[in-house]
Amino acid sequence: MRRNRDELAKMRRAGRVVAEMHEVTRATARPGVTTASIDQAAREVLERRGAKSNFLNYGNPPFPAVICTSLNSMIVHGIPGPQVLEEGDILSIDCGAIIEGYHGDAAYTMAIGEVSADAKRLLEVTEASLFAGIDQMKVGNRLHEIGRAVQSVAEAAGFSVVREYVGHAIGTAMHEQPQVPNYWPGSPGPTMKAGNVFAVEPMVNLGRAATRVLDDQWSVVTADGSLSAHFEHTIAVTDDGPQIFTIP
Ligand code: MG
Ligand code: MG
Repeated sequence: MRRNRDELAKMRRAGRVVAEMHEVTRATARPGVTTASIDQAAREVLERRGAKSNFLNYGNPPFPAVICTSLNSMIVHGIPGPQVLEEGDILSIDCGAIIEGYHGDAAYTMAIGEVSADAKRLLEVTEASLFAGIDQMKVGNRLHEIGRAVQSVAEAAGFSVVREYVGHAIGTAMHEQPQVPNYWPGSPGPTMKAGNVFAVEPMVNLGRAATRVLDDQWSVVTADGSLSAHFEHTIAVTDDGPQIFTIP
């Protein structure tokens, strides 16, 4: 789908709300705080900006919060609740917002206090892999070059890329086709055009790539218990190069 100028402007506004959710959640998360209270802080941003949540009541069973909070070996889709953050944790926070029917979606992983050298490197490499992917978002380039770039950065550091969960086109729904794998899937995929908008979201594990879903039917964890990080932006392909919507 190619979005017109008016649609892109709405998506940029949704992206700014998501960026503000990032700011507020980052300022809230610290040792001793529950993940439910981080969700509450994010709800207040949505309310203040007149935005709707694209996470709340999503799927089946309906997701019960406006953000996902995924701790340590949890990769994505963690449900905020009474869990208390501790010094040394890493916490992935995924946020989304809808403005006038248009969606934004972005995630980051943060250190809670001082974390291990391994954890720190995992965060740096995963964020670097996202930006390597974004660098491929040029008019005329093929979509799967994004995943090839993500994978090469993550694997060069000795980490592995999750296969079962991927990025996606985004617009009037959060998850639109085509998918955006974080690895080379064996074919170059569609050609990127001006007005295409994608959520690119590498999930990188310190250990092996395999995943497992917990009994709550949402929380996805690493099968080997290793740490995992997740960074995501919503980005438009434009004639002037990639434009990241989910930044301030
Ligand atoms: Mg997301
Ligand atoms: Mg996403």
